[in-house]
Amino acid sequence: MYADPVTFPAELLTLLRGGPKLVALTGAGVSQESGLRTFRDAQAGLWAQYKPEDLASPEAFRRDPKLVWDWYAWRREAVKGVRPNPGHYALAEIEKRIPEFTLITQNVDGLHRMAGNLNVLELHGNIQRVRCADCHTFAETWDDDGESVPRCRECGGLLRPDVVWFGEALPRAQLEAAVEAARACQVFFSIGTSGVVQPAASLAFAAHNRGALIVEINAEPTPLTSKADYVFHGKSGEILPELVKAVWP
Ligand SMILES: [Zn+2]
Repeated sequence: MYADPVTFPAELLTLLRGGPKLVALTGAGVSQESGLRTFRDAQAGLWAQYKPEDLASPEAFRRDPKLVWDWYAWRREAVKGVRPNPGHYALAEIEKRIPEFTLITQNVDGLHRMAGNLNVLELHGNIQRVRCADCHTFAETWDDDGESVPRCRECGGLLRPDVVWFGEALPRAQLEAAVEAARACQVFFSIGTSGVVQPAASLAFAAHNRGALIVEINAEPTPLTSKADYVFHGKSGEILPELVKAVWP
């Protein structure tokens, strides 16, 4: 189907050309455009009998660490075949053009870094990384014999995915940096996020309250839509590359 090219208000283009302090918050919609199914939709095969809540929690890991480890190994496999989409690459392009740009994401797939973004705050962690459940040492590689949960090289504790589980707090340093960036920015993009998962959803409102211009790109209206200065309904993988082209032709 032919999609009309998006038209962007001249005022927005001029503002972005001036290199404002900019924050972009991304959610599941951005990953879905890469073909990654949501947490819930992805439950298949032998995992279909479990609810994510019963696997992604500290209690589940205490009860059966191997089961939780194996589920994440399976999810990591699913992420392996997924590539960044044009929306990811457009955000990497924006980071090159805007001196003070912070990307805040709720996604754990690591696709923003893969696309080339460097200043990324991963509020919910990263599925490609693990950490020790005891001493919190991070690891990007580990030995998995398939028999038992790999252990920490520092203390011998069990390794777990470095993601935020149900009932867990967000990583404090990441959250503080995100709040600070949201409060200081002049333009805030909310992209592919439903705007209902806290505390990420409150970041846009914090920016709005401090006078930032709010731009929303999402498939559907959200609780943020009525506060947004500019709303673009559609795919971020189509709108963001068009925007980059329009701002920096
Ligand atoms: Zn350890």
